[in-house]
Amino acid sequence: SKVKELSSEVVDNNPYSRLMALQRMGIVDNYERIREFSVAIVGIGGVGSVAAEMLTRCGIGRLLLYDYDTVELANMNRLFFRPDQVGMTKTDAAVQTLAEINPDVVLESFTMNITTVQGFETFTSSLTNKSFCPSKEGGSGVDLVLSCVDNYEARMAVNQACNELRQTWMESGVSEDAVSGHIQLLVPGETACFACAPPLECISGIWVNLRILLSRVVASGIDERTLKREGVCAASLPTTMGVVAGLLVQNSLKFLLNFGEVSPYLGYNSLKDFFPTMKMRPNPQCSNVACLQRQKEYMLAKPERDAAAKAK
Ligand code: ATP
Ligand code: ZN
Repeated sequence: SKVKELSSEVVDNNPYSRLMALQRMGIVDNYERIREFSVAIVGIGGVGSVAAEMLTRCGIGRLLLYDYDTVELANMNRLFFRPDQVGMTKTDAAVQTLAEINPDVVLESFTMNITTVQGFETFTSSLTNKSFCPSKEGGSGVDLVLSCVDNYEARMAVNQACNELRQTWMESGVSEDAVSGHIQLLVPGETACFACAPPLECISGIWVNLRILLSRVVASGIDERTLKREGVCAASLPTTMGVVAGLLVQNSLKFLLNFGEVSPYLGYNSLKDFFPTMKMRPNPQCSNVACLQRQKEYMLAKPERDAAAKAK
């Protein structure tokens, strides 16, 4: 009855009232803080575009969008893009739609490949721009990076930038057969980085070490895109991508607004409706130098963390 009483107050037409009700109901302490947060989304495809729309509708402060591709008719089996946007860059098409949905969100569009030398430089320098949040501590000007790309090299580039900038990020993926996916939280030094531990992906009911599989493809010099084009065309479903985007943004909201439990890893197997979770510790033998530096810092800060925990 308390919920009934509370929700009867919010019968106006402002979408923010529905979000602010989360605060009145005691789920979130301070929902309005969402307007102060910046989120970078790398890959505005089947998962990234939907994640961007969800954050826009939640009233996020600022979104930085990265993608090198253009909208194609073949993308219409996913959510978000419309046929009249075919030929536009994905980032510009996204800005067009998102600005209509919520003009309060600051939108920045980066049409580029983050794995080229120039692209990587632009990527890291855009992440360090603090004009939106001058008082933010640390080297980064964003609060969270979401990786929604579909290849190993791009994930490694996000991993490198985030390890260097001490930037917390979340990784997402959908399997090539379109029936499973995952999200993963990566906190440099504290959790496994993308180069630390093998991720597990459930393909047709079998747990596959996708990272080793993909690193072999990359190491053998075969271009993943060629492999995709010449081999069997990868499947995709708006349902699986929508679910993964939902899990990713739900975890992001919990992380940013500090409510509930932030999942370190959450898998989704649609064939069995199985949602495995696990924690991955950093690998002291990780090949990524920046990861090893972050691990060292994390160890050195242990007395501080213990004291803070005791004071609580
Ligand atoms: P498909 O390959 O099935 O046609 P897609 O390429 O649109 O689909 P998605 O999984 O829907 O793939 O989305 C991944 C997105 O990540 C794509 O829009 C792609 O352009 C983007 N992306 C991948 N690698 C990079 C990169 N290095 N820099 C910028 N964007 C990238
Ligand atoms: Zn690592």
